[in-house]
Parts: sequence; structure tokens; C-alpha cells
Amino acid sequence: MVASRILFFLFLIFVLVYQATTQPSFIYHSCSNNTGKYTSKSTYKANLDHLLASICSNTGNDSGFKPDSYGQDLDKVYAIGFCRGDLKPDVCRSCLNDSRFALTQLCPNQKEAIGWYDNCSLRFSNRSMLCVEESAPNYFMWDTKNESDNVYGYGDFIRILFSSIIRDAASGVSLKFATTTTVASAPDFSPIYVLAQCTPDLSEQDCRDCLDLIHAQIPRFGLGHAGGRAYTPSCNFRFETYPFFDVAAVVQSPHLPPVLPPPPPPPPVLPPPLIKGTLLNSCYLGENRPTGRTKRDTTTRTVIVVVPTLVCIMLVISNIYKFVLRGRKRKDNFETIDEMGNVESLQFDFDIIKAATSDFSAANKIGKGGFGPVYKGKLSNGQKIAVKRLSKNSGQGDLEFKNEVVLVAKLQHRNLVRLLGFCMEGNERLLVYEFLPNRSLDHYIFDPKKSANLDWESRYKIIEGIARGLLYLHQDSRLRIIHRDLKVANVLLDIKMNPKISDFGLARMCVLDQIEGSTNRIVGTYGYMAPEYAMRGQFSIKSDVFSFGVLMLEIVSGKKITSFHEGENSLLSYAWKNLREGTAVNLIDLTLRSDPLSEMIRCIHIGLLCVQANVADRLDMASVVSKLNSNSIALPLPKQPPNFMQNEVPLATSMKLDTDCRPVSQYDVSITELYPR
Ligand code: ATP
Repeated sequence: MVASRILFFLFLIFVLVYQATTQPSFIYHSCSNNTGKYTSKSTYKANLDHLLASICSNTGNDSGFKPDSYGQDLDKVYAIGFCRGDLKPDVCRSCLNDSRFALTQLCPNQKEAIGWYDNCSLRFSNRSMLCVEESAPNYFMWDTKNESDNVYGYGDFIRILFSSIIRDAASGVSLKFATTTTVASAPDFSPIYVLAQCTPDLSEQDCRDCLDLIHAQIPRFGLGHAGGRAYTPSCNFRFETYPFFDVAAVVQSPHLPPVLPPPPPPPPVLPPPLIKGTLLNSCYLGENRPTGRTKRDTTTRTVIVVVPTLVCIMLVISNIYKFVLRGRKRKDNFETIDEMGNVESLQFDFDIIKAATSDFSAANKIGKGGFGPVYKGKLSNGQKIAVKRLSKNSGQGDLEFKNEVVLVAKLQHRNLVRLLGFCMEGNERLLVYEFLPNRSLDHYIFDPKKSANLDWESRYKIIEGIARGLLYLHQDSRLRIIHRDLKVANVLLDIKMNPKISDFGLARMCVLDQIEGSTNRIVGTYGYMAPEYAMRGQFSIKSDVFSFGVLMLEIVSGKKITSFHEGENSLLSYAWKNLREGTAVNLIDLTLRSDPLSEMIRCIHIGLLCVQANVADRLDMASVVSKLNSNSIALPLPKQPPNFMQNEVPLATSMKLDTDCRPVSQYDVSITELYPR
């Protein structure tokens, strides 16, 4: 009796250990530290187990997209299982099942996590993730096999091919999934297989944005590689020189060149060889799984009765060994850009930037800001860039500078200007951004002619976009960033007049401003600064909210905060007086008065709630966004905003000095804008 109990106990241990150690490895996984942990006996844990089991065994929904939630209030768990579009339901379920075990083991007690296999991804969280485009965490991998054969440059053919497949995936209705198999114009006219997919809850625009972000990385990282993969929570993209999806099962995208006849079956998958430079399989871990699973079944049957403990030990050792080997092979064969960021991959060669900007020619100079001149340029692959040439006598260490760039480059949101990389040579420090052709917002709203073309719908879209970008910096990004210099000149506009906040995070790299004879360093622009910041140097996300409120009032009124004087009133107090007296329409830009006024008046009201003198009375960006999204949310009456004209003169002067880049640490390190959450 005792012996059989011991045997049963050992058997249980064996099964658990075996399952844990033979779970196929994710291509990549991420455990979020932002959302906290649960305890092993908590309701959250029970809800999570229940939800994952139900998602992964769910046979009712065979679309390959399985969002669900379970539980109540703080213990409510949300999860999304998401399979590649060409998979059969049973393969999808099996992949999700593997994910379920692997993810909870790799991220023990973590409330939020995500893991990617080749065939599927699984994510869970204590927040709803539906209908939100998320580009982080992300993971890119490139095939670095012998680059002399079957490689693709990023010429027009590939650009058009990738763009069309992105368009096709985004325009999908029930499945946002597209593939193509076509002949590339690569040196040997070999085929190229491409796949793009978004979670189907995304809008067409969100899906495009998500895939465009990935696409934008390809010229920099994937150039010259025969294959590449990119994974984000909301979308994924892959291209290879061999068929990796079920060519027979998918419908060719309509905008693409004709389908090739089904290719011969891929060679059988062998256990990972240790030869450096072989095809992808040694790093593409998902493809090694089938052999592992068969072995598991056989081994289980053979050994459970005989010597379970011995087998457990052997399995643990062998899996540790396999894990180490895989890690080593991944390092050998792939360039990966994981969440920690690969500094070098963001580094541009100085000569490339020099050529792109025609040696920083005057004709290419598009502006000058506090950091130095800005040039437009064009890379050899056709991508347009904006290059900020920081002043030369920086004292900041190279490593610090690179690290800062990597941190900021990781922030990706459609309403933030994308930092593509940097360049350092001698004293030269260049920051390379995506190029925004429509310049900054101030060129429109303060120009009598152009402002007439910026109707209320466009302005409202701009206000909403800035609010979302700022919310991302404050709350949704992995780093909390206080911008400290939000103003209309720091909002750039893309070709469709979508707003993008610029200069965020830069204060971390360069000291923007200094106050002579004072230990306080007030960064920012007069008029936009919250009183506690302007007078005492205290800043917080609420001081950004203040700047946002000013910006909103400027957009509605078409008047500059610094130039508006109506009797004794500044723009803020004039807005407040008129709102209180029911004459808010007086503030509205004359060119807008033929549009429906209620939304504009609501914006004035929300703007005033952002510029409250008392920090506690000010809204935060989350409530600004929700109030902008819903007209039915009641707005409290704003108190009188601060009026610098009547009150104390701020400690900061109205000037913004053009200063050099210096290490932040050289000054007051307690003032920092960017910190891990
Ligand atoms: P400050 O640095 O004092 O805040 P600023 O924001 O105007 O001033 P920069 O951000 O250096 O200064 O930009 C200078 C000008 O360069 C901007 O007005 C804008 O027109 C142009 N510019 C900056 N970045 C880009 C970009 N990514 N694409 C297109 N134009 C840009």
C-alpha cells in the first residue's frame, strides 16, 4: 500500500516535471512587470487557469482568434489566443495548449504575459486588450544564412510587395490575414513567401499602423536577409524563401503577382544541427516541436512504470541542455532585436546621413530648434528622414547617449514622431527621425490663410491624437515620460494631417535649458508651463496636462497663448470668463464659427479643466481622452485658471535658451523625465 502510494506520488511528480520540461520553447515571451503579481492561492490565479483552459480547448470558435475574459472586478482576467490564419483548428488548439503551460511556467504569478510560437500567440492580462493596437513588446528575427544567395535588397519590388500585402491584411473583415507566394526580382528570381496578419478586432487603420511599424524596420534590419519575422501583440509579419504556410490552404492576395504552383514539400525537419550557418531551423524553435511531441508520448509510456524518478532527472538535464544549445544557436545565426534593444542596430553610419542630407546642405535645412538645426534627407532605399544635428560640444558619454536613444526608440505610438536611430562620429550627434512632410501645427493654426483650411473636424482629430500620444507617454508606454515642452510647435503633422508629438524624451539626452544663477532648470516654453513648474520647478504628468490644456485652447481659438491679451485677461482667464458667462463662442476661431459649436465649447471646457492652478483639480490624460470620446460625461465647472499677468512672475524667464547637449547627470539628477515604471 505504502509502496503503491510512493509510486503514485513519483508518477505525479514525473508527469508534472515532464510536462514542464518538454514544453516547446516560445520564439519569444515577455512577462510584464507593470501590472503586478498574483499569489498562487488567489482568485486571480483560479480565474486565469479557468480562462486559459477554456480558450485553449474551445472548439466553438475556429477562427483562430479567441478573446475572452473571466472573473469579476480586480480578479477579472482577460486573455487572447491568436493563431496563424492558415492553421487548421486542431493545430491551433494544440499550439494554444502548449502556450498555456509554457506561459504560466515562464511568467509565474505574473498578471500579464505574452508568448509567441510560430503558429500562435497567447496573452493574458488584468486589463482588456481588445480593439487596442499594441506594438510592444515586440520581437524581430532575421535569417542570417549565407547572404550571397536568395537575398532580397529592399528595392521597389519588395517595397510594393510588402505594402500590398499589408493593405490586403488590413482590409480583411473576419480575418485580417494575407499571404503571397511570388517570384521576387532577387538575383536568382527565387520565390518569396510573405505573410501578414493582425488580430481581427483591429480597425483597418490600426492594422495598417501596426504592420507599417514592422515594415518600417525592414529596410534597416532585414535588408539583405533571406527571411525575417516580426511579432507584436497585435500583428505579425514574416517573409522567407521557402514555404512556411500552407500554400494550398490560403487565398492569394488580390493585388499581388500570380501564385506559383504549390512548391515541393519542405525537407523533413531534423533535430537541430549544430552547424553554424545552416538554414533557419536551429533558431526557429517552433519547427522542432513535432519531433519532441512524438518522443514525449513514447517515452511516457515506456518509463512511467519503471523508474520515473530517474527519467525525470534525465529529462530535466536533457532539456536544460537543449535549452542552452538553442540559446547558443539563436545567438549564432540570428540578429535579434529584443526588448532590451540592440543599440548597434539603431546606429546609422555618418556617411549615410551625410549623403542623405547632401552634406547637411542649406537647401535641406528645414528648421532650427533648441537642440540645433534640422535637415531633411533621403536614404538610398527612398525612405525620407529628418535629421537633428545636436550641438557639438556634448559632454555626454557615448554609452549613455546610445542607451537614451534605445529607450526613446522603443516608444512607438502613431501619435509620436518615430525616432529611427542615431549617429555618432567624433563630436557629431545626430538623431534620425521619420520625416513628417506637413511640418508643425503652429504653421497652420496661427497662419490666417492656412488656418481657414483647417476645419473643426481636422482640429478635433488633431486634439484627440495629441491626447492619445500624451496618454501613451504618461501611462501606456513601458517608460513614464513627462514631456515638459508640449506646445503647438512640437506637434508635427503627417501627410494625412495626423498629429505626432515630437521632442519627447529628448530632455533626457540633452539638457534643454538652464536658468542663469539658479540651481533650478526649468525646461519648457513660457505660457505653456504649469505654475508649480514655472515657479518652483515641480513637474509631473499634471504639468504636461496643463500644457495640453493651453494647446487645446490655442487650437480652438487660433490664438497664441503668448500673444493673446484682451484687457487684463490672458487666453486662459478670457476663456474661463466667457465659459462662465455662457459666451464661450467669443473664444472660437472666426474661421470655425460656421461649424457646430457644441463640440468646440466642450473642448474649451475640457481645456480649462486641464489648466487649473491646483494640481489636484486638473484632469489627467486618461480622463481627458474619455471626456473627448464621450459627450455624455458630465464636466465639472472649472475654477479660475492661473493668470501670470496678475500673479507672481515665474522664476523661469520667458526665454528658452539654445544650449548644448550635456549629460543630465551633470546637472540635477533628481530632475528626470524618463524613468522605468
Ligand atoms: P524647440 O527645440 O525649441 O522646441 P522646435 O520644436 O521648433 O523648437 P525642432 O524640434 O528642433 O525645434 O524642429 C525644428 C523644425 O524642424 C520644426 O519646426 C519642424 O518644422 C522641423 N522638424 C523637426 N522634426 C521634423 C520631422 N521629423 N519631420 C519634419 N520636420 C521636422
